Amino acid sequence: MLIVLAVFFVLLFAFLFSMQRPRYVLLSFDVEPVDGRESVMGIIDFIVAKNEKSQADKKVNVTFFVTGEYALKNRDVIARITSEGFEIACHSFSHPVFLRLNKSQKRNEFFRCKRALDIAQAPKPKGFRAPYTLIDMETIRILERNHAAYDASTLSYTDVFYGSDNKMRRIPVSTVGLVPLNDVIWVNYLRSPSVFYWFLRHPADGAVSVIFHPRNAISYLNELEAVINALSERNVSFISYYHFTEVTYERDKGLGCS
Ligand SMILES: [Zn+2]
Repeated sequence: MLIVLAVFFVLLFAFLFSMQRPRYVLLSFDVEPVDGRESVMGIIDFIVAKNEKSQADKKVNVTFFVTGEYALKNRDVIARITSEGFEIACHSFSHPVFLRLNKSQKRNEFFRCKRALDIAQAPKPKGFRAPYTLIDMETIRILERNHAAYDASTLSYTDVFYGSDNKMRRIPVSTVGLVPLNDVIWVNYLRSPSVFYWFLRHPADGAVSVIFHPRNAISYLNELEAVINALSERNVSFISYYHFTEVTYERDKGLGCS
């Protein structure tokens, strides 16, 4: 009987402890020429206005994965993202399917993106997301060799196929079943934005990584605000991808796993 009670209390404390764990939601915006200028500026305005009304510990941070082509055509948008202090990461130069490229084309897409962001005077990007979240080992090795801090291209269930040698952090896109939390899929293909935003309001413990596209998200700012408000009340932090790599590195060090 005592053993049963002891096990019960251990499980109860473990449960309560897991409830207290900080949770992270990583909001990302993949920015491509088709997004244009106004939708991206609108998203920035929305987050900045929201943060002006929030307490210091409830501020929302997000990450923009930008293509090189977009950066060259929209330098004022890049300047605005930078001046507001949001992270800019690399989303290739011309948005190709990486699986169809040879090695030198992949390298080119990566370096041309970095160069374009440099010309647009963005800070040096620390992370990468492949277009269409389609990446292969060859591209991952290119990122590792060039000291990318993280890749955000894999999906939560495909990530296991890429090994875990820890040379570079991988932050997979979260999924519901087999469906990635990517607004293009839920809004454009499945035509279920309300289901998409419902899932965002009810994330699992730990970290949730979500992809928006400004051209879609700009039409659903009320829904996005409701998600942020609901999760902020539940002690969820909205942090940038690079900040997340720092937070998890500290946590892993603390546990002695890294
Ligand atoms: Zn994209």
